[in-house]
Amino acid sequence: MTSPFISLRQSLQQAQSRGLERLDAQMLHLHALGRAPHDRAWLVANDRDPLPAETAQHLERLVLRRLAGEPLAYITGSKAFFGITLQVDPRVLDPRPDTETLVAWALELLPTESRQEILDLGTGSGAIALALQHERPQCQITAVDASPQALAVAQSNAQRLNLPVAFVQSHWMDALSGSFDMIVSNPPYVAEGDPHLAALTHEPLQALTSGADGLHDLRLITAQAPSRLRPGGWLLLEHGWDQAQAVQALLHSAGFVNVQSRLDLAGRTRCTGGVWPA
Ligand code: GLN
Repeated sequence: MTSPFISLRQSLQQAQSRGLERLDAQMLHLHALGRAPHDRAWLVANDRDPLPAETAQHLERLVLRRLAGEPLAYITGSKAFFGITLQVDPRVLDPRPDTETLVAWALELLPTESRQEILDLGTGSGAIALALQHERPQCQITAVDASPQALAVAQSNAQRLNLPVAFVQSHWMDALSGSFDMIVSNPPYVAEGDPHLAALTHEPLQALTSGADGLHDLRLITAQAPSRLRPGGWLLLEHGWDQAQAVQALLHSAGFVNVQSRLDLAGRTRCTGGVWPA
């Protein structure tokens, strides 16, 4: 175990030899030392400093949590997402960089001076809605989630970031009225029983799984969206790496046009969208 007299460098090496990724080891050290997550240069420049004994004890608990598979974001309490910092905890899904693809696509479709009304379905931590509001202050953004616990996280992120997103508790569009110029969503899309879930046990299952084929919620959203989209409005959906064809088919059969998909940073087809025709 860690001795009170080892250097930061030795401690970082020990953490890695126990199975942590280098970046995770660095982030946990910065967190335990009370330094900002962007201070990795400081850590590298000062890695001959001794690790204080009380930090070593705190760090040990953090390392054990990470080794047990808990997302780094839950341990440090925050996650950088598309230029904003979100506070996250087990009430919400850990925001993925994959989802930044959906935000980037939405922004391409929204002129800078845009005053459009946008709906984010299943907002979780508020990641998509808050990133869009941060980039497009003129837009009116409504974010819904079925989980009051998730909405509490999203609302506190909105307050801290001073972003005027409106929040509504709703199962998809059930509690909504009115219409929108764009609907975006990163719904649950993992198939129940997918072996991949074994690595995601720290996250809320209701934010991950969606029926036997993972498409249950994508079907509901695709069916409901036409009643809430203005003519010419886009529906943009995140989905699993192998679901693009199925989601394209759902959009076509609901009557959407200009249906297309986008790749995430890892080159997997991660988002599919279409236009509700005029
Ligand atoms: N992309 C996540 C994963 O497969 C799932 C997120 C989701 O279901 N929306 O780990």
